[in-house]
Amino acid sequence: MNTENIFGKNAYFYDKEYDPEALLKLISFGVQQDENGYIFVNLDGRCVYANRRAFSMFYIMDDLNLLYETFDSWRTGLGIEEDATSWCRIFVSAGKERLYRVRYKRVHDEIGRIIGNVYSIQNVSDSLGGEFGEQYRLTHDSLTQLYNKEGFFGAVRNLLQNSNDDQEYVIVYSNIKDFKLINQLFGIDKGNDILVNIADSLSQGVKENDVYGRINGDQFALCMPKSRFDDKVFKQAIRETTRRLTSASYSIHIQLGVYEIKDRDMDISLMCDRAYMACKSITKDGVCEIAWYSDDMLINALLEKEILSSFDFAIINRQFGIYLQPQVYADGKVFGAEALARWIHPENGIIQPGVFIDVLEKADLIYKLDRYIWELAAKQLALWRGTPREGISISVNVSPKDLYYLDIREEFNNLVKKYCINPRHLNIEITETAVTTDVSKCAKLILGLQQDGFLVEIDDFGSGYSSLNMLKDINANILKIDMGFLRKTENPKRAQVILNYTVDMAHELGMGVITEGVETSEQLEFLKGMGCEMFQGYYFDRPMTVETFENKYKEA
Ligand code: C2E
Ligand code: MG
Ligand code: MG
Repeated sequence: MNTENIFGKNAYFYDKEYDPEALLKLISFGVQQDENGYIFVNLDGRCVYANRRAFSMFYIMDDLNLLYETFDSWRTGLGIEEDATSWCRIFVSAGKERLYRVRYKRVHDEIGRIIGNVYSIQNVSDSLGGEFGEQYRLTHDSLTQLYNKEGFFGAVRNLLQNSNDDQEYVIVYSNIKDFKLINQLFGIDKGNDILVNIADSLSQGVKENDVYGRINGDQFALCMPKSRFDDKVFKQAIRETTRRLTSASYSIHIQLGVYEIKDRDMDISLMCDRAYMACKSITKDGVCEIAWYSDDMLINALLEKEILSSFDFAIINRQFGIYLQPQVYADGKVFGAEALARWIHPENGIIQPGVFIDVLEKADLIYKLDRYIWELAAKQLALWRGTPREGISISVNVSPKDLYYLDIREEFNNLVKKYCINPRHLNIEITETAVTTDVSKCAKLILGLQQDGFLVEIDDFGSGYSSLNMLKDINANILKIDMGFLRKTENPKRAQVILNYTVDMAHELGMGVITEGVETSEQLEFLKGMGCEMFQGYYFDRPMTVETFENKYKEA
């Protein structure tokens, strides 16, 4: 019996006096003899009807309340939310396991009013014992009941072998961004709940012959005809799923990588690797971002692998160093420097941060580098102590990920103690995007650092979308505005007006402004005209080795 047909039926004529429960019961007649179980619940959450099959599936004789209690405690015991629309789980009774697929729907009357809810329950594995059970367990994931990696690979191989050659297929791979963090912050149970919900929404979205499964941790894969893959449909479905799962304190970002299958004989695992590579190439932070695989990604992935495999060795062998870029007043007099990481590679020469920072951030390793760089900066300040350079401050960068992996206050206070330096000279740059990911946590951190005597700068201010909003909660010492803000826009006049007001506003709020990326004397004049007083940029100097810096800048 197809539930759509019954629920589509018009039962509104039934009574002039509107009685939703009576309507619900009337509709339930249609499933009395159905091979699937049905449980109907009225608007007050009371079970009003269940068909014979539902009773037998839960081993209950005639007691409707007991049946609903049994069903409900099974659902809650599994940690499934009351309004989850679909799940597939094992039910155990009298030592027997059965795999039930449950769908939950609202029942509407003819004019769209909700008159109750219904659970339809399908037995998808009559018995899990014997050979079938063994095979099932080998090819399925016990948490979501989807195919596991082996099951998925086998099923895709079958699909490709048995479908006609003209049909083009894609592998769609999904990855939840920073899932490890969700597990760490909210616990494994919440993490599992999210995975099960994603699996369930996937189950609802696919068509009969599509193959899908959970490949690894938070990664799902799907094989479907290319002609049916529609970016918009996927984005919409994912937005809906994440909306259900997201709370004010955390949000989920799902990345989809798509690989178009060109050679059907290629290993399915390689196809998945490529779809995953496409996933990992995504740097944007939307709720759902999609990238298609291209061969360049393979090259980047090899580079990434190389970076990650040699990173620990490089840290231990002190291959990372700092370059200092002067920060100056309008007359060119230096007051500080930004410490920028460089990888001084024995074979490949000096590697710029653009090559490795993102890779390390993605791999959750950036905190190791940052700690190392902060320490180099602190050591440098200690070396300048008692010299005419003593007043020159050094600013260091904090990656958004550091906020989760390190106790930043403790780290910096330890450095100050260890090297006997004045915290006033070790400035801390936190990017605007880091601040906006968790404003209240950052506000607390910034205040704490200031109480400890540090100056805090908001780096890359203006590059995000909620820059202004953030300022009402964050009281930093300095805003760093990147001139790139002016270069990248299609409407420089408007950007100038905004820049002008931002500088005024920062001053009104008691913050200093450093403009970075200053490249020409015209820019300098223009910025001075706006009241900017501190600068950093190629016009004055590029980042340089500490030695060069010391030769050039003898005093603060
Ligand atoms: P950032 O913190 O905004 O640093 C400024 C970047 O702008 C530096 O690039 C600097 O060389 C560049 N720059 C300075 N003046 C000019 C100019 O006039 N024109 C142009 N076009 N660029 C200019 P760099 O050294 O390549 O660093 C890039 C980014 O990498 C940094 O941006 C920062 O976000 C990140 N980074 C560097 N070192 C570290 C580090 O130790 N830890 C972390 N987490 N990130 C770092
Ligand atoms: Mg910076
Ligand atoms: Mg910057």
